[in-house]
Amino acid sequence: MDKRAVYIHNGKPMHRSEFETWIENQVFSELDKFIKTDDTLAVAVSGGKDSTFLLDMVHTWNELKNRSPISAIIIDEGICGYREFTIKFLKDFCEQKKIKLYFASFEKETGATLDKIIEKRDANKLTNTYGSCTICGAFRRYLLNRTARKVGATKLLVGHNLDDEVQTLLMNLFVGNVGQASRKGELAGVIKHVDFVVRFKPLIWLPEKAIATYALLNYPEIPTHECPYLRESLRQTMRKMTNDLEVQWPGFRQKVMRTYVEKMLPKLGKKIPCGKLLKCEVCSEPASQKICKPCELKQKLNLKL
Ligand code: SF4
Repeated sequence: MDKRAVYIHNGKPMHRSEFETWIENQVFSELDKFIKTDDTLAVAVSGGKDSTFLLDMVHTWNELKNRSPISAIIIDEGICGYREFTIKFLKDFCEQKKIKLYFASFEKETGATLDKIIEKRDANKLTNTYGSCTICGAFRRYLLNRTARKVGATKLLVGHNLDDEVQTLLMNLFVGNVGQASRKGELAGVIKHVDFVVRFKPLIWLPEKAIATYALLNYPEIPTHECPYLRESLRQTMRKMTNDLEVQWPGFRQKVMRTYVEKMLPKLGKKIPCGKLLKCEVCSEPASQKICKPCELKQKLNLKL
């Protein structure tokens, strides 16, 4: 057996099988904690390392428990030079593991790919009003929820890791979005609504580096292309900032997340009640305002309603 260390956790070097057992157990115990016997599971996938790892873990856990099959859902935003590679990878991965893969696309929903939507936004001088990731995120969450509901899922699992969660938390606090920040944690954004599928994030305690190591060892064929819109997002700046802080204060992210979820969130949650979800007046999907964000974007950017 190869005894070379592949990952260091809390100062302890781990060789490959020790590392894989550790990380798999971390995910399995989150699944044990939050999945009910009668839950039907769908995993949101992008073809990147985090969601592929999550899909693999959930699939394995599900088979060990002898549960009914899971589904995978991918949203094709229509980002040229990026998404076509991850879709191809996922099709092969799901075929090999015998996981049913469902698709939804921006083009089918709005009549335009994300690339075209961004062109329209710029032509309408709305570049500073709607960031690329804001548009992308709004349609993606919308389509994920609708597709998860259509396939009968009671929980939609998403692959946000510890680094993502700390970045999002700080971004929300920086821009004063306390309502969003108060909905962190494994079962984030839980608002009871008949049409809203509960989201579950089993990877929020795992550092990106640990998942990337596992992915490199087990799925070396994952495409490494980056979304071209990533560089204009605030997240990139936040990623750099939190990476620097982690180097200066090892364990910074874990401490921020633990303090937030375990100490601040219970107090914050009582002060900021989760808003009620409404039905969008245009499409009837769950919405926090009278008109949901995707319908607002469709109207403002002249897209198919
Ligand atoms: S980086 Fe932004 S535009 Fe690209 S896939 Fe992510 S959210 Fe969408």
